[in-house]
Amino acid sequence: MKIFAIGRNYAAHAAELKNDLPTEPVVFMKPDTALVKNNADFYLPDFSTDIHHEIEIVLKVCKEGKNIAPEFAHRYWDELAIGIDFTARDLQQKLKSQGLPWELSKSFDNSAPISEFVPKTDFPNPDLQHFHLDVNGERRQTGDTSTLIFNYSTIITFLSRYFTLKKGDLIYTGTPAGVAAVKAGDRLQGYLEGKEMINFLVK
Ligand code: MG
Repeated sequence: MKIFAIGRNYAAHAAELKNDLPTEPVVFMKPDTALVKNNADFYLPDFSTDIHHEIEIVLKVCKEGKNIAPEFAHRYWDELAIGIDFTARDLQQKLKSQGLPWELSKSFDNSAPISEFVPKTDFPNPDLQHFHLDVNGERRQTGDTSTLIFNYSTIITFLSRYFTLKKGDLIYTGTPAGVAAVKAGDRLQGYLEGKEMINFLVK
């Protein structure tokens, strides 16, 4: 099983990190050891002092595909979840400044908490979701997938040029503005269309 993640996919978030708007999707991957399920506690790693929260919509791939045409891309995912793309921002800035890959800052163990999945048929428009993240009861990030730079179908088409998508693969689709550091004792709650999907503690 593969976990893809898209960076800089909302304009306001790209701007807050002083990145140019991408002309094609920015892609990185996480291993399966990044996943944290069932609202388990998140333990701050010892190699960073600046772990940022990034709430994202996560798609689950439902069948194998390669070189998928945009008009058929919607057939390749059938469920979605709320995920957190935890990022060691201090380490990422260092790696970026050296022109090195981001994996150490993005793909470490437990860097990808994930909620239960819901079927896309729950949504009147499967491409349109509103989501938000509260930290200690305070709103930190608000997302609306109609403002994605690269929408779900574009992401799937792009990824499938390079990688064979397989049933069960996950795609973190990008975070809206408002990313910030977490600290021990913080409670993170992620919501999809106003419904709580994920709720866990930082330790
Ligand atoms: Mg992200």
